[in-house]
Amino acid sequence: ASFLPPAPRRRRRVACAAMSAEAAPGVEPAEAGTVTAALAEMVEEAAVWCAVHGLVVGDRADPRSGTVPGVGLVHAPFSLLPARFPTSFWKQACELAPIFNELVDRVSLDGEFLQAALSRTKQVDEFTARLLDIHEKMMAINKEEDIRLGLHRSDYMLDSETNSLLQIELNTISSSFPGLGSLVSELHRTLLKQYGKVLGLDSKRIPRNWAATQFAEALGKAWAEYNNDSAVVLMVVQPEERNMYDQYWLVNHLKESYGVTTIRKTLAQVEAEGEVLADGTLVIDGQTVAVVYYRAGYAPTDYPSEAEWRARLLMEQSSAVKCPSISYHLVGTKKIQQELAKPNVLERFLDNKEDIAKLRKSFAGLWSLDNEEIVKTAIEKPDLFVLKPQREGGGNNIYGHDLRDTLIKLQKKQGESLAAYILMQRIFPKASLTPLVRSGDCFEDLTISELGIYGAYLRNKEKVVLNNQCGYLMRTKVSSSNEGGVAAGFAVLDSVLLT
Ligand code: ADP
Ligand code: MG
Ligand code: MG
Repeated sequence: ASFLPPAPRRRRRVACAAMSAEAAPGVEPAEAGTVTAALAEMVEEAAVWCAVHGLVVGDRADPRSGTVPGVGLVHAPFSLLPARFPTSFWKQACELAPIFNELVDRVSLDGEFLQAALSRTKQVDEFTARLLDIHEKMMAINKEEDIRLGLHRSDYMLDSETNSLLQIELNTISSSFPGLGSLVSELHRTLLKQYGKVLGLDSKRIPRNWAATQFAEALGKAWAEYNNDSAVVLMVVQPEERNMYDQYWLVNHLKESYGVTTIRKTLAQVEAEGEVLADGTLVIDGQTVAVVYYRAGYAPTDYPSEAEWRARLLMEQSSAVKCPSISYHLVGTKKIQQELAKPNVLERFLDNKEDIAKLRKSFAGLWSLDNEEIVKTAIEKPDLFVLKPQREGGGNNIYGHDLRDTLIKLQKKQGESLAAYILMQRIFPKASLTPLVRSGDCFEDLTISELGIYGAYLRNKEKVVLNNQCGYLMRTKVSSSNEGGVAAGFAVLDSVLLT
């Protein structure tokens, strides 16, 4: 994952015309020259703010930045101004969070459904097959997770064609940027308090964002439910992680607010140092683990050898709270997203008709590739679709010409190769000119935004301890790029300006 931008196609110094034209209605923006001067000042102030408030990532230019904390830091890429977002859609997205949380929990309990829905994918996707194997083993021993913790992020885009809020995906593992995302909201609020008048933008229209403290609270409460004062939280991490400060924000809150210690281990270290005692207790390097929080383990590259798979199985077998459990992880796959969008499937898991209607309204078109008609349409009009494999972390989807070529190739192949993918309706958000800051430089480009709403869910048997919407993440990307990963180098962090 790279934090450096891909070679920009079209870089332009911040121009001001678009800025003043976009000022809030009823507010008289200052003259063009004043605005340009303000923006230039803001770039430097913002970069300083990032440095002194920990809105930072490891710099790719420094080879040690992904392994040694405190070395080779650079401000995270960010948008200089918050992205406009209509209040009604904002409320709609926030309202969905606890419903999706509940849905994930309900679906996770139906092991047969998960296995059946993913059975064809399993034949052609090695990674999903390995996850399903672990899940199957847990089903075979009737493994029950009494304490269940979900730290989710449901991502949306506003479709300009239909003027509706449509879900891109629901992340149930390693939902990233609760730490840095909350900071960007603070950064924007600070900037607009000073420059909002000149720009005609009101800082109060940026919603508060407590994602970091609320995720830490959920982890802290899960730790408390486990009920062992000397136990720790285990954060499972990648061996190299330039996004470590996003994670350290949670570590820090956990320590300060709940007195809970977090240890960070890679999957390989867990396999080398971990054991499960006869009573199910997970012990790593002599320390009892109350909660396993995965910030790794979602991609095939996280499992370079059998050792990592053994570590995943070991933790799953233990009595520690897993965030996520193998079931929660599987519920977050693209295939399950597509299955849940089929008629009458939500009804199997949720009782409340209004909740079901709200969820369904946010579903874009989703199809399995055994639907010949839709495959034919996608080959004819590839730009109206996105082809998705069962992968996480950005950069895996297929678009346009590649989509057409891939479908034609897959059709010719024998067997179930189409079952590795799903097709999704392509969503078209409205593009706008935005000043983006990377490595201290500001450039304006045409961008589109994706809103992520965090949700935390914690239950212990029948007691629902937490079911919250908790903060948000806006990511803004150059509209010419298909994918939106910040860590993957396609997007910048942003916040919301309600309109
Ligand atoms: P991942 O789990 O890898 O993040 P996503 O489903 O979120 O997978 O897709 C990655 C990116 O691709 C999204 O952030 C978004 O920018 C883009 N994308 C995904 N689905 C669509 C869609 N239906 N329409 C338009 N863009 C999409
Ligand atoms: Mg994802
Ligand atoms: Mg995504």
